[in-house]
Amino acid sequence: MNCRDAERLVTPYIEDELPEPVLEEFLEHVESCPGCQEELEIYFTVAAGLRHLEEETGNYNIKGELEQVLEASYQQVHMYRLMKIIYYAVNTLAGMGLLSTILLQLRIWIRP
Ligand SMILES: [Zn+2]
Repeated sequence: MNCRDAERLVTPYIEDELPEPVLEEFLEHVESCPGCQEELEIYFTVAAGLRHLEEETGNYNIKGELEQVLEASYQQVHMYRLMKIIYYAVNTLAGMGLLSTILLQLRIWIRP
């Protein structure tokens, strides 16, 4: 993912609209790119500021808020990875189980 892609995804990210695989790439890029990190901070600050104005809440720790949101995103990506690993593991086990069942069945059929 390059900066252009990342910049395009900043608003959908803030609105929590990024699907998992894109989210992961986006986070990876933002983490390693100070320019896009700044971009995200600016957009997030504006969006959060507007929201606070609407809600009239006294919480103006926007930077801390962004950190919380990013933390939640990392956890989400982490969970997604874990689910993927479990999914592949189960799939592999099921495939192996099926294969050995077929082989056993074949042995029964082929036996003279
Ligand atoms: Zn970038």
